[in-house]
Amino acid sequence: MVVLNAPPPWIQVQTRHLLALDGHAWLLHGPSGLGQYSLALELARAWLCDRPGATGACGDCPSCHAIDVRGHTDLCVLMPETLMLELGWPLGEKAQVEIDDKKRKPSKEIRVEALRDAVEFAQRTSGRGRGKVALVYPAERMNAIAANALLKTLEEPAGDLRFVLASEAAHQLLPTIRSRCLGHTMVWPAPAEAAHWLRQQGVQPAEVEVLLRAAGGRPDDALAYSRAGLDTQSWSGLPKALARGDGSLLANWAPSQTVDALLKLCHDLLAVKAGAAPRFFATADLPPAGSLIVLTEWWRDLVGTARTVEHPFNAGLMLETLVSRARMALNSRP
Ligand SMILES: [Zn+2]
Repeated sequence: MVVLNAPPPWIQVQTRHLLALDGHAWLLHGPSGLGQYSLALELARAWLCDRPGATGACGDCPSCHAIDVRGHTDLCVLMPETLMLELGWPLGEKAQVEIDDKKRKPSKEIRVEALRDAVEFAQRTSGRGRGKVALVYPAERMNAIAANALLKTLEEPAGDLRFVLASEAAHQLLPTIRSRCLGHTMVWPAPAEAAHWLRQQGVQPAEVEVLLRAAGGRPDDALAYSRAGLDTQSWSGLPKALARGDGSLLANWAPSQTVDALLKLCHDLLAVKAGAAPRFFATADLPPAGSLIVLTEWWRDLVGTARTVEHPFNAGLMLETLVSRARMALNSRP
């Protein structure tokens, strides 16, 4: 067993559970940061493994090795190209050439062309004789055309093809896709379990608690924050910095991360207004809550911005607007 790359304990428990149920098409869903991708990959590994056990893949057979080096002929991975590159999966030959030749940038969506390759894959015979697996993540990043191509494959599955779709926004999927799959709601790890795992991943013990709170208890998100250089001091200081109109902490963040952080701040201020405990920040980090009406309007604005944030017209200007809007809301009179 490869202990180094072993998935977190809460993913291992879910792998065991799903393998015992023996579904042929799973939809793993829940909010981001709970390990949908890890669980999907563990299922795929177990299904294709030469010596699978009740707990999952053996980690040591040619099939497991082929997956570890991202070269298994019976595994078709459908992800946005940006994510494929980040996670070390090879792109299709044609796509790679187009990107190398700078004809286009890696796509943030799951491309229709990739789905067409997947349909071909579905019709091929299994190379290693243990069936085939298609892994789709995040499934909500398919447009309608791509989703329909997938649906056709789901409706007429070649006998030995299994699916695992992982989603962080399953409500955005076509209902026809949802209804073709068995659903599994991702399980939240206990806080102590998540904290222990983060320390194992090299997150400084002093940072763990605050990063986990910043991530709303989602361990993968907390780890991503840590790797992006977020520390306790900057997160704790963010609300009061914004109240002063200082958005320097956000300068290097992607616009979507900025909006996410502002939504968390606004959420906490509204929670405090309602007499509840904040979720993402410590009470002491928050400025006195502003006007309920202004905060509610700010929330609506942010939700609207979150929908279009992937393609800002001008990222610098957008940040300036977001910070000035935050300052106004934070300084509004109760
Ligand atoms: Zn194996």
